[in-house]
Amino acid sequence: MISFEELKNILDNNDRNFIERLAQKARATTIQYFGRAISIYAPLYLSNFCENHCVYCGFNQTMKVERKKLTLEEMHQEMRKVSQSGIQSILLLTGESRKITPVDYIKSAVTAAKDYFPAIGLEVYPLEVDEYKQLCEAGVDGVTIYQETYNIERYKMLHPAGKKTDYHYRYETPERIAKSGIRTINMGVLLGLSEVVEDVYHLFLHLEHMQKKYPGVEYALSFPRLIPLKESKIKYFEVPDITLIKLICIARILFPRVGINLSTRERPYIRDHALPLGVTKISAASKTSVGGYCLEQNKDPQFEVMDKRSVDEIVTMLQSKGFDPVFTDWRPLGGGDR
Ligand code: SF4
Repeated sequence: MISFEELKNILDNNDRNFIERLAQKARATTIQYFGRAISIYAPLYLSNFCENHCVYCGFNQTMKVERKKLTLEEMHQEMRKVSQSGIQSILLLTGESRKITPVDYIKSAVTAAKDYFPAIGLEVYPLEVDEYKQLCEAGVDGVTIYQETYNIERYKMLHPAGKKTDYHYRYETPERIAKSGIRTINMGVLLGLSEVVEDVYHLFLHLEHMQKKYPGVEYALSFPRLIPLKESKIKYFEVPDITLIKLICIARILFPRVGINLSTRERPYIRDHALPLGVTKISAASKTSVGGYCLEQNKDPQFEVMDKRSVDEIVTMLQSKGFDPVFTDWRPLGGGDR
């Protein structure tokens, strides 16, 4: 690991030659460990009910958005539509409401998803070990959990109510996931909530701790940048494009075997330029509202998608740049043709 000061120096150094050397090293490391493979996935929102008050999120309990939870039939419609685009890896998301979307509901969504996708990831509220085990047995192979920010004071201010106020319970979530036998854990911070250098340094420490304690788990990192709500009065921290690019390079060099995800929060220009520097997984043709793929009953998205290219357009872009688009690199035993 590098020290806090070293990380800060890299992020502060905008000398062109220095950045080029950093990028070259990240590029070479990526080729060495991942070749030219880029996995493609899509998110699917099951529900936007949420009991938390994250002040930066359009789904927080106080927001007057249309609330919607997919029925089993609607899940199938959405999943069918996504799978018809060629996607084989799905990320199922909910807001954080154990009451409205209990574990059994999530399990029924996972069971439905198995009809369409060999790889099923989850981004839901933090669970207990035995609950993760149940979902693992149901077919989940990966879980995404972001600490959002590692600055405890900022965390408290940004999460004033709901279960998410418990910083430590959230911090310990990756350990509970690892104990459950789930194969991959995707960790991250929401860049812009706090000082970037501080958040990323502590994210790296958290990941390093997890790798040492649970070496059998596959890890990935995400660096989503905050898109502030229009009416927000909170002071956020600016995260320029070059900072994001440098973070991807540093993460690749420090953690050569760890996957790096880049979502459609980012513009095509940034996604395309970040690809050779360490990104291993990107989303495509994403919808961030509940029922967004075909139901169109709920039009309030969690955030605006900046890269609106179709799956075919993403594949064409990847191939034109010499990458190998990968729709699935993993199937569960007994998964049949899927
Ligand atoms: S960030 Fe997640 S937990 Fe927080 S309000 Fe939004 S959906 Fe709920």
